[in-house]
Amino acid sequence: MPAEPTAIYLDNHATTRTDPQVVEVMLPFFSERFGNAASISHAYGDDAAAAVESAREEVALLAGARPQEVIFTSGATEANNLALKGLLGSFDTPRHLVVSNTEHPSVLDPVARLERNGHRVTRVACDATGQVDASDVLSAIESDTAVVSVMWANNEVGTINPVAEIAEGCAGCEVVFHTDAVQAIGRVEVDCSNVPVGLLSMSAHKIYGPMGVGALIVRRGNRRIRLAPQIEGGGHESHLRSGTLPVPLVVGFGAACRLAGESIESESGRLRGLAQRLVEGIRKRLEGVHLNGHPKDRLPGNVHLGFEGVDGDALVAGLKRIAVSSGSACTTADPEPSHVLAAMGVPETLSRASLRFGLGRFNTEDDIEVAIEDVVATVERLRGSGG
Ligand code: PMP
Repeated sequence: MPAEPTAIYLDNHATTRTDPQVVEVMLPFFSERFGNAASISHAYGDDAAAAVESAREEVALLAGARPQEVIFTSGATEANNLALKGLLGSFDTPRHLVVSNTEHPSVLDPVARLERNGHRVTRVACDATGQVDASDVLSAIESDTAVVSVMWANNEVGTINPVAEIAEGCAGCEVVFHTDAVQAIGRVEVDCSNVPVGLLSMSAHKIYGPMGVGALIVRRGNRRIRLAPQIEGGGHESHLRSGTLPVPLVVGFGAACRLAGESIESESGRLRGLAQRLVEGIRKRLEGVHLNGHPKDRLPGNVHLGFEGVDGDALVAGLKRIAVSSGSACTTADPEPSHVLAAMGVPETLSRASLRFGLGRFNTEDDIEVAIEDVVATVERLRGSGG
């Protein structure tokens, strides 16, 4: 059996540890309270259904939506697929879509498939900080645009997009706006009651909940939102996503949303402080360190640094005391350089020599000091050895 990982975990954009308080809330639903939420003929089912509905309220509250607007899925990959393929699948003839070029593959790949199937796509370029300009997005809208999809915050460089402006503009043109809010929700304010989002994707395992559950928020009252279900069967989740709900995971997702909502303000301030310390600590001791992403409009716990004069693989392999990601952990199966950094115009050598630090709820000041030491020592060693 491989050894248990002991390095300090600084990869909270890839996934987060399930909060022990969340685990505690989930546990009874694996044992005594094991009912199927769709079994309406006995108390086991009623109990599970009540737990699901209360989780639905907690998820809705974090997103500023109504409980009946929450469609549980297996995660955000599925939510993004349902949003895009579902929406375009409800038309009989080809339509137009607008997306940003820094989206997660779970948006870009379904969009590429839709394009192969005859729909037209405009991909809006980001600037050097990874941000799209709202007016670029809105001016790409055409008379047959079915959906605009722009992520709230980027999973690699943490850049936050001007989502409110884009959503308002889409509402003005009567175009559905979808946002992948996986990295933003629970970390910065995401409020559908303030921002006219039509469809919003979220995932539990990025906010200290369990892997394997997420949601698509489908706003009611927008007659342009018609979704063709991608998984059909028993008619669960308002016929939009059939399949027995994983009650323990759904309950954990609800608890994770409640905890995130309670701590969002204090946590974002704390993480900003830790992130600043990390950047300053490294830059004080090393030359040639670039901060990728937006200087201000970024996720509180995201630090993305490019190191001149080192080999990227050697850098990641050299870090022994911390667990960080090179580029995006979501696509490390794919050795290609990051499409996000390429879109930002970061040269390939610097892109390959970049590290993504994702600071999170369980990180302390001591962790940051260890990270500074480990990074500085490794980069100095590699530079010294010509690596
Ligand atoms: N969108 C973004 C921005 C993400 O970071 C991720 C996870 N890496 C996903 C979608 C996919 O989420 P899930 O793991 O829940 O399928």
